[in-house]
Amino acid sequence: MRILFFTLVFTFSLFASTLNPNTGRGFAKNEIDVLVSLTDCTGAGFSTETFRDLVEDAADDYWNAVPTADLKLNVKGITNIDITGQSHSDILNSGLVANNTILAGCNETFSSSTTLGGAVMKCNGDNCQAVLIINAGSESAMPDQDRNTQIAVIAHELGHAIGLGHTEISHNLMYYSVSGKTQTWLGQDDIDGVTYLYPYDEPALGCDFLPILGAMGTIQDNSNDDNDNFPGGFMASALFGVLLAGLAFNSRKLFKLFV
Ligand SMILES: [Zn+2]
Repeated sequence: MRILFFTLVFTFSLFASTLNPNTGRGFAKNEIDVLVSLTDCTGAGFSTETFRDLVEDAADDYWNAVPTADLKLNVKGITNIDITGQSHSDILNSGLVANNTILAGCNETFSSSTTLGGAVMKCNGDNCQAVLIINAGSESAMPDQDRNTQIAVIAHELGHAIGLGHTEISHNLMYYSVSGKTQTWLGQDDIDGVTYLYPYDEPALGCDFLPILGAMGTIQDNSNDDNDNFPGGFMASALFGVLLAGLAFNSRKLFKLFV
């Protein structure tokens, strides 16, 4: 029983995705348009056209590549929406960003010159929008990064824009520390988070059995919305799955039943 207890603690602490505290949820649809603002990205070390290509690589190489999630970020062309001098909230409150859309751009509105970028999401019912801004200020560290790291930084901010918060586990793209934001791959928390927010309609296996296969972890609610977005059924089924996983790991006979 003691071993089972440690297995439970270990399993819960191993997977710890969180949701974007702005919204505590993802977009209502699994297909989301990403538009690029025509604002100047020179201070970030690239042209606006190159920024559009980096955003597309970030979408395709990271979030669109998760096989367990039904998410499709459609990166479109450069739109004539100009976000020069506007904060995330200015833009979201202006009505310039259409529903089910992420607007990505560069500007110099960051209070800290060392910040690489930021993303904010807003939802009203099923209508969600997000704004992703890369720091193009004169002291931005973005030009010092190599191309793959720039893509990883944009992918991290896209993670916030689709509804993910930070994780405390360092080997994930959504790790909260600046140094952890530059890794160029998704970790288990990242994959668990996007799979939870954008599931396929009909999973091939029942949710209760997915934790045994390592395909579903726990998701912490990091929002202030009283757990409205966490159906009891999900947590109950996740707990049931973890219990089964603990039994399986601690009983060779039982484990053989599952392999
Ligand atoms: Zn972040």
